Amino acid sequence: MIIQGKTNKWEIVCGLEIHCQIISKSKIFSTASTKFGADANQNVSFVDAGMPGMLPTLNQYCVYQAVKTGLGLCAKINKYSEFSRKNYFYADMPTGYQITQFQYPIVGEGVVTIDLEDGTTKEIRIERMHIEQDAAKSIHDIDPHKSFIDLNRAGVGLMEIVTKPDFRSPEEAGAFLRKLRSILRYLETCDGNMDEGSLRCDINVSVRPYGTKELRTRCEMKNVNSVKFVMQAIENEAKRHVEVYESGGTVEQETRQFDAVSGQTKAMRKKEFAHDYRYFPEPDLPPLIISDEYIKQIADELPELPDAKKNRFVNELGLTKYDAAVICENKEVAYFFEKAATGHDAKKVANWLMGDFFAMLKRKNLTIEQSPITAENLGRLVDLIEQNIISGKIAKDVFEIMSETGENPEKIVEEKGLKQVTDSSTIEAIVDQVIAANMDKVEAYKNGKTGLFGWFVGQVLKESKGKANPQIVNKFIQEKLG
Ligand code: MN
Repeated sequence: MIIQGKTNKWEIVCGLEIHCQIISKSKIFSTASTKFGADANQNVSFVDAGMPGMLPTLNQYCVYQAVKTGLGLCAKINKYSEFSRKNYFYADMPTGYQITQFQYPIVGEGVVTIDLEDGTTKEIRIERMHIEQDAAKSIHDIDPHKSFIDLNRAGVGLMEIVTKPDFRSPEEAGAFLRKLRSILRYLETCDGNMDEGSLRCDINVSVRPYGTKELRTRCEMKNVNSVKFVMQAIENEAKRHVEVYESGGTVEQETRQFDAVSGQTKAMRKKEFAHDYRYFPEPDLPPLIISDEYIKQIADELPELPDAKKNRFVNELGLTKYDAAVICENKEVAYFFEKAATGHDAKKVANWLMGDFFAMLKRKNLTIEQSPITAENLGRLVDLIEQNIISGKIAKDVFEIMSETGENPEKIVEEKGLKQVTDSSTIEAIVDQVIAANMDKVEAYKNGKTGLFGWFVGQVLKESKGKANPQIVNKFIQEKLG
């Protein structure tokens, strides 16, 4: 995306840092529960509360989840990594420091392929991923004079994914977040719910004259909590930089806050320099060393990820790239589709899924897991059309009944007598009847109003209550009208 300023063309340079809460029953350095939505301060151990003399114990499952995520990002897994203390004082951090990884993260460079609207793809490079503990939550809006602290989130395991500054447009950043969320959900390492704060995005933005390779001063926006807001923040912040430069000013390195109501960013505080945190190796935890066998074991357990699934749906099932991408973005949809398509016409199943089926879920406000129509029954409905047992039009009625009753389509067709009429003599009789009753239209047709052909087909189908096989109807009308 090129930003056209008053005098120059500019290019966006943007990188993201994403904090992802690790799916794990307990916290990363204690045995307290991570359950979301518990009453305040119910899930707190002495370790999380920063009591003197308490020692952290690394939760092995969080390590497993981090390695799995690293493999899902096609990244290098570091067999040696270290924990560090990042020191800062804040009320939501009872110990006065965060245990994180600094110099030696558990995951190194990787890559995520994003799909753009014009059908092209782009590779976004991952710089690193490290694991760390989350902070507690300060609550300022309950009492006008007091602030409250909820320690439930303190010590929940996080994966912090840092990208290279590879984004050149808000659209690319949006596509990346959707793809990342999709990968994490397939892996079951983070639920990706941005509105619950399990996936939080920090954005770094700068601009440069279009065509140059320079890197100018960047500004950071922290904890932006929806894909839409991330895209808005990038666009508006980049435009602000352009205005500053074109009016002869300089952009200061600072942390800015994104305001969801106005869509604008405003200055919050000057950026701390990294050494302000006085990082040093965490004395309470030994280096983390993992083996090749351990990594291989996790690699063997990886599920098929969205890109691989998408390519397989295109190459083996004949889906269009677009359909495959839509179906594979959401794991539950992809699994449902695969179940519905197995043994049936996959392309037709995809059409039904993306058309009537999605519309039905939306209308009834249901998730795919709550669908009254099972995957098997959707596949069977497609079979009934393919085998000419019902017409496409009748299939819509059967689909409606299925969405109300959850019954299987054969039973509905049987009980309601919806079987398609394919018997030639029956259909021919109806065609004759329609023609005899509309001789004026036959005349008009013969005098060149060929558009009436469709009208005749429609009349015959109507006469048969939609049950006459349309191909046979067409054939007879063709014959009789000459
Ligand atoms: Mn962090």
